[in-house]
Amino acid sequence: MGDIVKKSKKPKKEKCRKCDGSGKINDKTCSTCKGTGKRDLLHD
Ligand SMILES: [Zn+2]
Repeated sequence: MGDIVKKSKKPKKEKCRKCDGSGKINDKTCSTCKGTGKRDLLHD
């Protein structure tokens, strides 16, 4: 009756490990995060 189904779809972002969140590697845009410095947790 009072059941509320919570569907919290929060896209979790993780700091890109490849560029350590800087978005760049050796002055080149990180291909993993595409320069955002963040990485979608859904993708590996
Ligand atoms: Zn990156």
